[in-house]
Amino acid sequence: MFNLTHLLRGSFSHGIHPPENKHFTEAKPIERLPFPAQLVLPLSMHAGKPSVPLVRKGQEVVRGEPIARADGFVSVPLHAPATGVISDIRLMPSARGPRVMSMILDVYPGDPQEILYGAPVDVEAMSPKEIVQAVQDTGLVGLGGAAFPTHVKLTVPGGCSIDTVLINGCECEPFLTTDHRLMVEQAADLVKGTRILMKVLGASRAIIGTETNKMDAVAAIQKVLQPNDTVSVKAVPTKYPQGAEKMLAMALTGREIPSGSFPSSVGLGVFNVATTAQMGQLMPMRRGVIERVVTVTGPGVQRPGNYIVPIGTPIRWLLKRCGFEGPAGHLIMGGPMMGGTVSSLDTPITKGCGGLLVLSEHQLTSEEQMKRYPCISCGACVDACPMHLNPCELGRLAYKGQYEPMAETYHLNDCFECGSCSYVCPAAIPLVQYFRIAKSSNRERVAKAS
Ligand code: SF4
Ligand code: SF4
Repeated sequence: MFNLTHLLRGSFSHGIHPPENKHFTEAKPIERLPFPAQLVLPLSMHAGKPSVPLVRKGQEVVRGEPIARADGFVSVPLHAPATGVISDIRLMPSARGPRVMSMILDVYPGDPQEILYGAPVDVEAMSPKEIVQAVQDTGLVGLGGAAFPTHVKLTVPGGCSIDTVLINGCECEPFLTTDHRLMVEQAADLVKGTRILMKVLGASRAIIGTETNKMDAVAAIQKVLQPNDTVSVKAVPTKYPQGAEKMLAMALTGREIPSGSFPSSVGLGVFNVATTAQMGQLMPMRRGVIERVVTVTGPGVQRPGNYIVPIGTPIRWLLKRCGFEGPAGHLIMGGPMMGGTVSSLDTPITKGCGGLLVLSEHQLTSEEQMKRYPCISCGACVDACPMHLNPCELGRLAYKGQYEPMAETYHLNDCFECGSCSYVCPAAIPLVQYFRIAKSSNRERVAKAS
């Protein structure tokens, strides 16, 4: 048995403690589901330029085969998640609403679905430049939700150097347990991926950071580390939003990432657990991202769990396997604090989607509940904001449509939309929704002026 008390670290000021609700799935091992009959593969499931098809309608593809190439540096390729035939390439609805060009892959029923692509390589013998190219070739993006191409994050801006890699395993969003299970079950891949990141960034140490409600993950990672390892694992107190980059950096290293700056400005490279574990799995075989783990959870599903599914799996198909056949209005993609609704259940699981939360009827917010009540100036939102902003004043300005001073005087752009202020507001003012609208309006104004 490990003595884990020396692995505990500090935290950050403010923040909140919403009910964790991890009990639905935290103890459920990752389970592989059978393949659906059809996959939908958007060419733009990552930040940056969409991928460009390498195959045409009617063409057979083999599981793992590259089927679309990257279009420039800020873009990634796409690999066939299953063996089958490309039955169409057409516009399809996306989870957020707009239709995007997508490949439709009809999966061959009864196929053993072996991965025939890829060959072993010695990553240790590769130069950092070769590794960056190889990471782009895997199609790896931030699997924690941002879906930003990972190889771009490995290209450190001039004048910066990275001494410490931070692996973010906090998973502070209530309900979600994908990263937790990956740390427990794929600790060796996670550490392998961490060492690749250290090599390419020239970092001398790495810290895998998690929260105190996942001490089994700390123990699993400890088991694969060497004595005096340059990789360590630390648990910080469970608090929301501990998994935000700035909060994690402060808690684990005491370094403050300045407003408007990247972690590299203070010598840090920050990566998500799921991304790093995939890197450890894929890179030594030069394979591409074709599947991911998704937590399907909440009181609205009969069989909650952590499921591994091919990229492109239709959400409707996955929810049906878990015992939910209700309307899309019950579903949140991601966690309850920062996740969003989906336009249709016929949209697919993309690389950045790690969780589906299904609420029961009585948990849905009615229009009446969302009605704005006057602010009672209680200050609860100010005490909750981890960025030390003044959500109360920001809310007042947003209500009046005064978006410019929100950014210039009240630092709206430092708000990362964690939702803590909305959560604690006794007047049920939808503050974070106001802030999203204000930011989007300011962006449009700046774009028109330039
Ligand atoms: S949503 Fe923005 S303003 Fe509200 S608590 Fe989070 S960072 Fe602060
Ligand atoms: S928590 Fe709500 S009611 Fe209280 S000060 Fe903030 S906006 Fe006003």
